[in-house]
Amino acid sequence: MKLATKLIHAGQAPDPSTGAIMTPIYQTSTYVQEAPATHKGYEYARSQNPTRKALEDCLAASENAQHGLSFGSGVAATDALMKLLRPGDEVIAADDMYGGTYRLFTKIYEPMGIRFHFVNMANPSNISALINENTKMVWTETPTNPLMSISDIRAIAAICKPANLILVVDNTFATPWLQNPLDLGADVVMHSATKYLGGHSDVIHGCIMLNNDELREKLYFIQKSCGAVPGPMDCFLVLRGLKTLHVRMKAHCENGKTIAHYLRNHPKVGKVYWPGFTDHPGHETAKSQMRDFGGMMSIILKDDSLDAAKRMLTSTHLFSLAESLGGVESLINHPASMTHASIPKAEREKVGVVDGLIRLSVGIEDVDDLIADLEAALNKV
Ligand SMILES: *Cc1c(COP(=O)(O)O)cnc(C)c1O
Repeated sequence: MKLATKLIHAGQAPDPSTGAIMTPIYQTSTYVQEAPATHKGYEYARSQNPTRKALEDCLAASENAQHGLSFGSGVAATDALMKLLRPGDEVIAADDMYGGTYRLFTKIYEPMGIRFHFVNMANPSNISALINENTKMVWTETPTNPLMSISDIRAIAAICKPANLILVVDNTFATPWLQNPLDLGADVVMHSATKYLGGHSDVIHGCIMLNNDELREKLYFIQKSCGAVPGPMDCFLVLRGLKTLHVRMKAHCENGKTIAHYLRNHPKVGKVYWPGFTDHPGHETAKSQMRDFGGMMSIILKDDSLDAAKRMLTSTHLFSLAESLGGVESLINHPASMTHASIPKAEREKVGVVDGLIRLSVGIEDVDDLIADLEAALNKV
C-alpha cells in the first residue's frame, strides 16, 4: 500500500460493536475482565487503549515501521528514548536542533551522568571522531530547526551500524511524506506529532517508530512504567490529522517553494535558509533523501538587527507570532527569544541562531495572501 492509503486506513477497522467508521475515543481507564486475568488484551489504560493502538499502528505504517509507540508529547517520546541509557553512556547529538531536546539532554540527563557531545552533523566525520566504547546513541534532526541544515542519514547510519550505536532521527520537520529515515538506515524515528502529523495546532503529542523487536519491548516497558501516555482524545485528533497529511504536505511544499523564492528576491531580505535552493549546502543530500523540501524556512533581513527583526515579527497579520510549526495556518517565530531561548546565547550564535534570525512555518492558505502579508510587513522594516 502507498503512503496516502496507509495514512487513511492503517490500524483502523470499523468499530466491531457498531460499525462506526471512525475509531471511537475509548475514554476509559480500565476494562472489565471475564475471570481473573481473562480479558480481551486490554487491562488498564496506561498499558493499552484501543484508540492509541489504532494510532500507533497508523504511525508505524506511515514510516514503514513494524512498531509505533505514542506519548503525551514529543519531548516525552525523546525522554523515553533517553531512559534506554545508563550513567556513563555517551550520546553524539546534532549541534543545531530543537531547543527542548537540548534542554532535556543538558538539564535533566547530563546531571544524571549521561554525556552529550554536540557536533555539526552536516559533516558525518565529526561523529566518527567522537565514538568510544561508551557511545550508545546518535541523535540527529534533518532538516534542522531552525537553520534548515541537512545531515546525510545514509552516511550517518553507515557510521552507526558497525559501532552498534542506536541512530535516532527526529523527523518532525520532514514528516513521513517527505522522508523515511528507517528506510535510509536509521534505527528509530521520533516525531513531535504536535506539528505536521496532527497538523491543526490543536494537540500535543509525540511518537516513536521502529523495526527492532527487542528495542520495542524495552520502549513499551518504559512507556507503561513511566506513564507519559497520551489520552484517547489526543490520539483521535492525531489519527484524524494523519488522514490529510499527504494533501497538506503537498500544499505546504508548494507554498513554501513560492515564498522561499519570493523572499530570496526581496531587496530587504539578506539570507533565506531553505533546502530547496540549489546553492543550499545540503541541497544534493536533501534531494537524495527527501521527496520535496517542505514549508519551513528561516531568514535574516539585510538589516540584521534585533530591532528590524522585531518590526517584521510584529507586522504580519496572517503569519501569527507563535512558537510551534506545521499547522495549516502560517506562523512566524523568533528562535533566539522563543523556541531556542533555552540554549545559551553563545551556543546559539556559534551555530548561527543569531538575534536577527526569523523562522517561518508556511501554512496552506492562499499563497497570494501570504505574500501580500509578508510584503506589507517588509515594507515596515
Ligand atoms: C516541537 C518539537 C519537539 C518537541 O515536541 P513537543 O510535542 O512540543 O513535546 C521535538 N523536536 C522538534 C523538531 C520539534 O519541532
